[in-house]
Amino acid sequence: MDARVDSIEVLKRVSKVIASKVGLDKMLRTVARETARLVEADACSILLLDEGSDLLVFREAHGLSWKELERITFKVGEGIAGWVARHQRPACVADVSRDRRFLRVEGQKSRFVSMLCVPLVVRARTIGVISVTHDSRPGAFGKSDQDLLALLARQVSLDIENHRLYELSVTDGLTGAYNHKFLLKRLREETSAARRHRRAFSLAMIDVDHFKKINDTWGHPTGDRILIELTALVKRNMRLPDLLARYGGEEFSLVLPDTPKAGAVTIAERLRSSVERHVFVMPDGKHRLTVSIGVAEHPTDADDRDGLVARADQALYVAKREGRNRVVAAEDERKRG
Ligand code: GH3
Ligand code: MG
Ligand code: MG
Repeated sequence: MDARVDSIEVLKRVSKVIASKVGLDKMLRTVARETARLVEADACSILLLDEGSDLLVFREAHGLSWKELERITFKVGEGIAGWVARHQRPACVADVSRDRRFLRVEGQKSRFVSMLCVPLVVRARTIGVISVTHDSRPGAFGKSDQDLLALLARQVSLDIENHRLYELSVTDGLTGAYNHKFLLKRLREETSAARRHRRAFSLAMIDVDHFKKINDTWGHPTGDRILIELTALVKRNMRLPDLLARYGGEEFSLVLPDTPKAGAVTIAERLRSSVERHVFVMPDGKHRLTVSIGVAEHPTDADDRDGLVARADQALYVAKREGRNRVVAAEDERKRG
């Protein structure tokens, strides 16, 4: 009786998170945590199918080391997760070491004995799997756990898919940063919120120095890879409310809410210097590159969206003219003429 009440509570909590329209990451975090509780598992992970590569990629994990999982993927049909994805059927395994489907992955330190894995299916298409494991107890999961997990999977599948479709529509396919369209929308929202609350916020425009040379020397695919690496580098230097978008080509925009210019310049400077120090591995060895950054503040430099972009762009232009690898703020740009 108690266990049953508890599972209803868990399902309720999960529905509530879904209905609250939080982002995909936050929703999956709750689903993983609550699922582990629901079936008293030591760990729970959610793998989503990447349609481009047809690989199952870890997207969330509770009770497991993320560092370890980050690099692990399964092909459809490979391992227990891959079997579940291919057959769209649950797998309840009492002891993985005795299961022929089980695949021990190189670099995976965590050990577990029992495993229960169910597919996430939307309109007859597999979009991923949820799996729970128990570290030491063989046969830790039974039929009732399987039914509960299947019920939960049915409940969350469509929402995960909708979140993902939304994500695809607002992000850039190459780098995963937000796209130009979403940037303009957020800038509009940010300007009206800043106006209402009389707050300042800043915009930084970032452009890679001499990027044409990179393409000319190593080819476009290497150039693309560098843009991906650069995006990751910028993300590591960002705070949670900041927004990174690919403005176009090798130009990025960073929206810094609640940040007056002085703070924005400090952030931009930290970013510039971390790019300068970063070593990029190219086909013929290690290389470095630099970025130029223009910063403008709302409302001091411009009080509308397009004006703000223009002012940050002008500052960026001055940074280029003055020798690149530097940060220029809109005000100084005016003084310099
Ligand atoms: P500067 O220091 O003045 O910025 O020099 P630059 O060579 O970086 O000049 P600019 O910013 O005008 O040129 C951008 C180049 O970036 C042009 C194009 O070849 C390259 N580029 C734009 N988008 C992409 C992309 O998606 N992938 C790759 N590989 N290259 C791109
Ligand atoms: Mg450039
Ligand atoms: Mg450019």
